[in-house]
Amino acid sequence: MSGDSDIARAPSPFDVERVRADFPILSTTVHGKPLVYLDNAASTQKPRQVLDSMRRFYESDYANVHRGLYQLSVRATEAFEAARCKVGRFVGAESCGEIVFTSGTTTAINLVAHGYGGDHLGPGDEIVLTEMEHHSNIVPWQMLAGRTGAELRIVPIADDGSLRMDEYERLLGPRTRMVCVAHTSNALGTRNPMRRIIDAAHACGAIVVVDGAQGVPHEKIDVRELDCDFFAFSGHKMFGPTGIGALYGKAELLEKTGPFLGGGEMIHSVTFDETTYKDPPHRFEAGTPDITGAVGLGAAVDYLEQIGMDRVEAYERDLLDYGTRLLEEIPRLTLVGTAAEKCGILSFVIDGVHPHDLGTVLDMEGVAVRAGHHCAQPVMDHFGLAATARASLALYNTREDLDVLAASIPKAIELLG
Ligand code: PMP
Repeated sequence: MSGDSDIARAPSPFDVERVRADFPILSTTVHGKPLVYLDNAASTQKPRQVLDSMRRFYESDYANVHRGLYQLSVRATEAFEAARCKVGRFVGAESCGEIVFTSGTTTAINLVAHGYGGDHLGPGDEIVLTEMEHHSNIVPWQMLAGRTGAELRIVPIADDGSLRMDEYERLLGPRTRMVCVAHTSNALGTRNPMRRIIDAAHACGAIVVVDGAQGVPHEKIDVRELDCDFFAFSGHKMFGPTGIGALYGKAELLEKTGPFLGGGEMIHSVTFDETTYKDPPHRFEAGTPDITGAVGLGAAVDYLEQIGMDRVEAYERDLLDYGTRLLEEIPRLTLVGTAAEKCGILSFVIDGVHPHDLGTVLDMEGVAVRAGHHCAQPVMDHFGLAATARASLALYNTREDLDVLAASIPKAIELLG
């Protein structure tokens, strides 16, 4: 290697203004005010690199995949499969075939519940969930329990929003078949001690399904280092398009997973007497997939890799500390979710002000935050709340964004409270 290429690869400092310039929407206005976008846990904005890749693909390489023998379809298939490999490499999968394209985290978890859980669970078997799960990591397991007679066991959270690991370890037992847990809570920001959770589950023979929706956009994920069995995530939360996401599954577990949706492309042969299925991952990709979405997700992965996830994590950690300090100084404001290990989520309530009203007033200041239960009603129940306001950060947010948020809240309190 020459010295020049070493220099070219040396990490440059994180330049947030350069990153922001990649996102056209960030220079727009709302109600005449510059947009301050703080709803990244719901969905992130898209950089030009992702938008351009999708446009280029539609304009020059688009056709259906895995079907035509003609040039264009071959090119489209190559682009689709190349995106699968990029996504796999990004999360540390051993092979491209361990990545199943789905429409997002929700579909990925339903796929595991139906295709794996349906065949491997029976009456009396136990599925361990946590109190901090998003509804998409609760409802599919409830539905599965209803069908199979399996039972749900719920790990409680502590009042700072961390997981009660003592309770978790107590709940594990010989009947535990599956542990389904968020890598990072979307409502509280808590980052769970994944390796400890996974090792303990494996020690009692259970398999682990990780809801990685809020992990992948914010830190380096290595599924092999985690040793998780399944890992689900969404493209639209990691600067890719909507409609595409992925399920990582260990090869030997995907092998043991039955089909979820039936249709074209997932079969070897069909007769009215018998249908045989393809091997993973194609067994799980019935019908025409979101081809251009996959290409866009591949471009989002390229984008994040070029910046470097370690730098993203460090930058967001600093922003979170800064935002936490600002919000803590606001009278009547209480942060919900103060675990020591957190990602950039600031969930809060203000005494005497409804979060929805707050959200509406902040919008008038150009500030986009979420208000509601964040599809995590058990979390709200734990804290005796109906809703919180939530500012969630991404790599393009700045200290100035947080200054605007913190300056707008007292104005809103004055108006509403
Ligand atoms: N899990 C978590 C932790 C989430 O934050 C979300 C999205 N809010 C989901 C699952 C569901 O993701 P999607 O809607 O992309 O399927």
